[in-house]
Amino acid sequence: MNILEGKAVFEGIAIGKIAVFKKAEKLVRREKITDIENEINRYAQARETAVNQLRALYDKALKEVGEANAEIFEAHELMVEDGDYIDSVENIIRTQSVNAEYAVAQTGDSFSKMFLEMDDEYFRGRATDIKDITERIINALVGGTDGSMDSDEPVIVVADDLAPSETVQMDKDKILSFVTVHGSVNSHTSILAKTMNIPAVISCDISLEDDMNGKMAIVDGFQGKVYIEPDKEILKEKREILSREQEKRELLLKLKGKKNITIDGQKINIYANIGNIKDLAMVIKNDAGGIGLFRSEFIYLESEDYPTEDYQFEIYKEVATAMAGKKVIIRTLDIGADKQADYFNLPKEENPAMGLRAIRICLTRPEIFKTQIRALLRASAFGKISIMYPMIISVDEVREIKAIVEEVKAELDKDSIPYDRNIEQGVMIETPAAVMMAPELAKEVDFFSVGTNDLTQYTLAIDRQNQNLDKFYNPHHPAILRMLKMIVDGAHSAGAWAGICGELGSDLSLTKEFLAMGYDELSVSPGRILPLRKQVIETDVSEYKKQKEQLKLKKEAHKC
Ligand code: PEP
Ligand code: MG
Repeated sequence: MNILEGKAVFEGIAIGKIAVFKKAEKLVRREKITDIENEINRYAQARETAVNQLRALYDKALKEVGEANAEIFEAHELMVEDGDYIDSVENIIRTQSVNAEYAVAQTGDSFSKMFLEMDDEYFRGRATDIKDITERIINALVGGTDGSMDSDEPVIVVADDLAPSETVQMDKDKILSFVTVHGSVNSHTSILAKTMNIPAVISCDISLEDDMNGKMAIVDGFQGKVYIEPDKEILKEKREILSREQEKRELLLKLKGKKNITIDGQKINIYANIGNIKDLAMVIKNDAGGIGLFRSEFIYLESEDYPTEDYQFEIYKEVATAMAGKKVIIRTLDIGADKQADYFNLPKEENPAMGLRAIRICLTRPEIFKTQIRALLRASAFGKISIMYPMIISVDEVREIKAIVEEVKAELDKDSIPYDRNIEQGVMIETPAAVMMAPELAKEVDFFSVGTNDLTQYTLAIDRQNQNLDKFYNPHHPAILRMLKMIVDGAHSAGAWAGICGELGSDLSLTKEFLAMGYDELSVSPGRILPLRKQVIETDVSEYKKQKEQLKLKKEAHKC
């Protein structure tokens, strides 16, 4: 048995086999080889694996998202089998006596460059497809998974780190847990683990070698430990914890249908954060009062090209319909920084977190924004949709956004397309500028939702993705707590409501404080809803305020 330590980002126990997820691009090295025919053969086998994966993906997509969206996998299959591409790879292997991985990477680079240089926009867009199939073939060559998880049984996914664009491809039903070598507590892998309600350990020095595949392991998301090939005693001990956890979950299920109301009668809405339409099942299972944050950028990350208005409309409509009149807050796309989609062709930046991201892209490229707003407004005729704008820093921005929304509404009116005329609009408060402008911003919108992940990053000047800074990343910092009070007071001063949709919203040690501050809503990962409801039901806010006041008086008396 081998015991490894890391940082726990979601509690729980997972027991199962390991599947190593490898990033293709990092593994490609130029190696001299002597057995050319063997290398050509390896390439042929990798092509076959890639084709099989693509066929499976086609079938899956056909069932889940329909023929039009599944076609991309057929197109990729044709590219894998393309004669020119194959000739180029084989030619490089033969003439340079190099490994197949290198030959594929070289070919992928030159073919995608060739497409990028074409005048026709359609062909330029195909460069992304070439990169995609190139990565798939390299993955097949190095023996890593492609994220679609070949295994029939659920597995513990072990990876260097996972980008949002990689996690979106994964078949979530087949993931028991995540273990990553890198990643920070606020990365999207952590958020995904929380959404999926599965244990995860990051910053763990685990091997990514092929021989790890299929090994039995235990992930302990309470202690941040990973046991590789555990002995019988540990297995017994962890199985017992697992069954106790399951019992606790069953108990929490009894809170379904109960109101989120404190002992002294204060109400709060508890909503769910989602990134994908597939998360809806968890939202309903955990009895969310609504959706407080739908990270719509995942629709863009999952797509090969800009998602069309109709495609988006169908998704938003499905969410609104499934929530049957409950509030669904959809955040407009928050692309940029750690969430990159190749086809946006965003410039490389020194400081992406402070760069062209989120609303800044939308206001720079309004045609993309208008497409999304049209889809959202159209879908608002089918349920209770609210629109939320990320990364706001000024009142002027909000006015510019509202003018665009009015333009879109006028277009819809002209075409007699129905939409909710009173659709709620709100902003995320995730920059210190927005906090300082809260009273003015509140006059412009219906609600605020605090993005504590980014607000902490921008207030403490700490990159949320940088694992070396986790020990400084303190969302309980008094500056953040003071800001949270300013935000809710700012909202209420102009009759807007305020919620928190960042990870801090599910921090049970702060629930009393949020209630005392007067927050109207907390939006958390679906798996956190019932524990949070329990905490609310057990809180007496007036008693808590009294205790706080007494403590303050005591401290003051002590000073004198
Ligand atoms: C946040 O910043 O707190 C937030 C909810 O948005 P995201 O984590 O998607 O950046
Ligand atoms: Mg954010």
